[in-house]
Order: sequence, then structure tokens, then C-alpha cells
Amino acid sequence: MRAEVVAVGSELLLGDAVDTNSAHIAARLAEIGVDVHRHTTVGDNVERIEAVLRGAVDRADAVVVTGGLGPTSDDLTRVAVARLAGVALERRDDLAEYLYGYFGRAGRAMPESNLVQADLPTGATVLRPVGTAAGFALTVNAATVWCLPGVPGEMTVMVERDVVPALRAKSGAATTVSRIVRTSGMAESAVGEVCAPLVARLDAAGNPTVAFLASRGETRVRVTAKAATRDAALTLLAPVVAELLDLLGPNVTGVDDEGVEAAVARQLKHLGLTLAVGESITGGGLGARLVSVPGASDWFRGGLITYATESKTLLAGVAPAVLAEHGPVAEPTAAALAVGARERLRADVGLAVVGVAGPLLQNGLPVGTTCVGVALPDGTTPTVARRLPALGRVEVQDFAVSLALDVLRRRLAALG
Ligand code: ATP
Ligand code: MG
Repeated sequence: MRAEVVAVGSELLLGDAVDTNSAHIAARLAEIGVDVHRHTTVGDNVERIEAVLRGAVDRADAVVVTGGLGPTSDDLTRVAVARLAGVALERRDDLAEYLYGYFGRAGRAMPESNLVQADLPTGATVLRPVGTAAGFALTVNAATVWCLPGVPGEMTVMVERDVVPALRAKSGAATTVSRIVRTSGMAESAVGEVCAPLVARLDAAGNPTVAFLASRGETRVRVTAKAATRDAALTLLAPVVAELLDLLGPNVTGVDDEGVEAAVARQLKHLGLTLAVGESITGGGLGARLVSVPGASDWFRGGLITYATESKTLLAGVAPAVLAEHGPVAEPTAAALAVGARERLRADVGLAVVGVAGPLLQNGLPVGTTCVGVALPDGTTPTVARRLPALGRVEVQDFAVSLALDVLRRRLAALG
């Protein structure tokens, strides 16, 4: 079964409101194995809504529309659907009565204009209102058009109560399940190249499918399978996940919700080591990411936020001579900060990150310049210097956290 999702509302086109309704509907339809082929957003204009719906009913078996069911002159979904189907709008007395009751119970007189919410296209099936707006379903050509309110809390009730059961009954038992193999420290293009033969094979077969999702230091490979049951889908996914783990090897941090911080946590626990951090560019973000892992108190000792150059000496004991010679953003400084964090917080391992978040150059170094230092139990202090993409300040900081964690992850892996 093919579906399309249509969001109606000029506020969505203007960027005043974010279309979370379509994402919610698409996710629910995927879970019941309905293929969503297109999302469209259209403003509060009756001709354009009608045109969008005309295209959608030509292509899809089900069209789920949200918004435009309110009582004001810019709420035009009812009118557009009636025009699309070539039918009139007719007053539903039971809905009119419901509206009078709704306002009566609230102790308010109903504005006459609210009665338009009782007008539905002839032949439409009413979806019982949650607030004031009734939803409705109407078959046009071979497609069913489901019209739901824009208010997210009302929309979700009708999706569960009306849309999902009806589509599931029509499409038969099916479900779509995804698993995500997560990598860190490897560019999206490199991941794509390594996986290319596997992707070509899967593309030819059609199920499961693969997608690559990249974000600041992490590339996720999502595999999605469609089958009659969740277990059957998982069975289809298992060999593909195994093959990806094999292909991507040491770049993998984990599956599904296991990002680089979870991988580091697992390693530290396995090795029986504790960690302390010294951070500058990330201003506490490195520590925050680490403590997002449940049970972090088992292995995380704490961190030093040494933002000002002088604080690196005051808090972490970085020698002024190191700072004078190399500056605050340099590999020897990162190494000294890692040693300081390790010693001051009595941890087994120290991890430090320094860098230039921008928007301006620092000591002539470009935005994105980042140095990571690790102080290991054997006294060695490996370092890594990178130039991260100069996105926004927050993005650089976020990426720097991921880089630091990935450098540590690779070092810990070498410890066994
Ligand atoms: P209703 O049919 O329930 O009256 P409407 O579109 O007529 O919906 P609006 O006043 O446009 O009502 O929207 C009601 C609320 O729902 C607003 O806060 C709006 O931002 C939100 N909303 C509408 N469409 C969406 C959407 N696609 N995603 C998220 N929120 C939405
Ligand atoms: Mg609206």
C-alpha cells in the first residue's frame, strides 16, 4: 500500500511552525508497513490544496492530510476536498450538536462561525472530534483521503484510533523495522565506498534497503526491512547487520542506540579503568556527553573546564612554559591538560580537548582547529590534531566532543 502525507498551513511554509505532524504520521505508517512515497506542505489556499490532493490521489492508495480544519476563513481543507471529489459540503447535525455541547460545557456561547466545522463533504465518514475539529475520510478515485486536525494532540488520537487500524486492515500484516550500525571517525563517503558492493546487492533485491546518515563525527548506516512480522523483519536484517559490522570493523561504535560515548563506557568498564577530562573548546560538553551514559559514576571521575588560558595552569597545572611555547591550541597543550586532569582527579586515564570554535581565528589558527590529548596509564600521551569543518560554533564544539571520544575509543581498543 502506498501513502502520501500532506501538511496544510501557511505557518509551515513560512517557517513559523515546524511540521512535526508529517514526521509522526510517516513513522506510524512505516511501522505498519505502509510505504510513504511523498510528503507535501501546502499553504492555506484552496486551489493549491486541491491541486496537491489531486496529484496525491492519482498516485497513492491513502492520503493523510493534517491542518486546515479549524473554524476560520483560512481553514480550507474541507472545501478543497469537496471540490476534489466534486461533491457539496453538507451540515452534519450531530456535529453541530456536539459543538453546541462542547461550548456549553465550557460555559461559553459558541461563535456562529464555529458551525462550519460541522460541514463535511457529502459521503465523508466522520472521525469523532477530540477538540472542536472533526476529522473525516472520503474515498476519491481509488484513494482514501484522511483529513485530520492540525493540532498535534488531536491528530495523534485520530491516527491511532481511526487511520492506523483502517490501513492495517487494508494492507494486511506488514511491518517495517530498522537497525542502525553506528560508526565514528570515518567520513560518510568512506563508509559509502566500503559498503558499495553490499548496497548494490541489496538494491537489486529490494528488501532490506540501506541509507547513510552523517552528522558531526558520526556516520550511521540504517538498514530497513519490510516483512509480515517484526521477528521476520529482524531475521532479514540480521545477516546484513553482521556483514556491516564485518565491513566497518573497528570504526563501529555499536548498534542502534550505541554511539561513541557508549562504546567508550563499555571499554572503560571492561578494562577496569577510570577517566577524567580536561576541556577548553567544549566548555563541559565532553563531560556532559560522558555522563549521558547510564552508570557513568562507575568509571567517570569528573572534569576540569579550563576555558581561559590561565585556567589551564590554575586548574590542571599545565606548565606556563608549555602555554608560552605552543599556545592554548596545540598538541603539547592537549597532552599536558590530559595529564593534569588525570592527576588532579586521580583517574587512570585523562582525555583533553582544545580548539578554535570561532567565529574568529585564534592566534592565527583557523576555526575548527582541534587538538586531542590522551594520558594513558603507562604514562604515554598520544595526541591528534584535526581541522574540523568550520560550521557554526555549537557544531564545531559538538564535533570536537565526538572527535575526542573517538580518539580515546581507538586508544582504548589498542589496550585490549
Ligand atoms: P485544526 O484542524 O485542528 O483546527 P488547523 O490547521 O485548522 O487545525 P491551525 O490553527 O492551523 O489549526 O493549527 C493549530 C495548531 O496546530 C497550531 O499550533 C499549529 O502550529 C499546529 N499545527 C498545524 N499543522 C501542524 C503540523 N503539520 N505539524 C505540527 N504542528 C502543526
Ligand atoms: Mg491551519
